Amino acid sequence: MSGYGVENLPYGVFSSGDGVRRIGVRLGDDVLDLSPLGDDLVRQPTLNPLLAAGRTQWTALRDRVTEAVRRDEVTRVPLREVTLHLPFEVADYTDFYSSEHHATNVGHILRPDQPGLRPNWRHLPIGYHGRAGTVVVSGTPIARPHGQLGPGEFGPSRRLDIEAEVGFVVGVPGARLGTGDFADHVFGVVLVNDWSARDIQAWEYQPLGPFLGKSFATSVSPWVVPLAALPTVAAPHQDPVPLDYLRPAGSGFDLRLAVDWNGTRVSEPPFAQMYWTPAQQLAHLTVNGASVRTGDLYASGTVSGPARGQSGSFLELTWNGTEPVKLDDGSTRGFLADGDTVTITGTAPGRDGDPIALGEVVGTVVG
Ligand code: MN
Repeated sequence: MSGYGVENLPYGVFSSGDGVRRIGVRLGDDVLDLSPLGDDLVRQPTLNPLLAAGRTQWTALRDRVTEAVRRDEVTRVPLREVTLHLPFEVADYTDFYSSEHHATNVGHILRPDQPGLRPNWRHLPIGYHGRAGTVVVSGTPIARPHGQLGPGEFGPSRRLDIEAEVGFVVGVPGARLGTGDFADHVFGVVLVNDWSARDIQAWEYQPLGPFLGKSFATSVSPWVVPLAALPTVAAPHQDPVPLDYLRPAGSGFDLRLAVDWNGTRVSEPPFAQMYWTPAQQLAHLTVNGASVRTGDLYASGTVSGPARGQSGSFLELTWNGTEPVKLDDGSTRGFLADGDTVTITGTAPGRDGDPIALGEVVGTVVG
């Protein structure tokens, strides 16, 4: 099938002719309207009430939808007839930096005279707080950001980039969560493109970290794939042994991303090799007493593997523009040009041989 079989059943928000937003589940190339199947939790314009309801309700609803699909007792709307919306109201947004390969590459590019990894990197999941209000759904055009590009220099970014990431959607609020609390608090995953203006970022990031170079837009895929649909893998070995609050590490996820630049496949980043797990990220995010809320989104950080063709950013893929990539139309690129379209897709291996599709997050740059 298409990756949207009965083992997947991701949740989204759609509207059709009447413009009313409804919760739906994707099955093949159709959207299942959940309103006949559920209670008030699913007769909503966003997923937030369902997210807040907790794991017992998530499981019950998934069982109910699965059973209705097997009996063919569902209301289908063709995907081509609907508009997909931001599936949940984003509360707070945090972005981590948990790929060792990405962090090492970026270190070498930005600080060539120093070791790639900073001394703290293996001790804690590095992250920053992003801007929830500029998280947009896949398909939203991305306006090229303007800003300070260096001393006395202002204008449109000339080094506009992507970051291919996986985002985790928090359902149940909490604080001081342990790694073992992950599956009770996190509902599912989306694909994320953390659009990044490298020239703005390079000028502004010291000493407080990313700011306007990233806050202009963050795109997410329209389907939230429940954790229940995803196969887990052992997390990578961690050295040094993390502090107690980051143990046990919890699972990694075998998610395989792909990045298409104007239709040319340029990269296939492997999520399974991420150093810090999403359970450790959640524990770290709340260890100081900070709470997470329903609708919080925290992203993994750019997913990059060891090979150039596994880069989750064009900064790495083209080594800061010094090694441009050739696209299928014969043109070359270092960073994004106006009119360029980037599509990030992802799959996980399915239990029955049919992969679990993570949907896609697509965006076109406008000047
Ligand atoms: Mn990022």
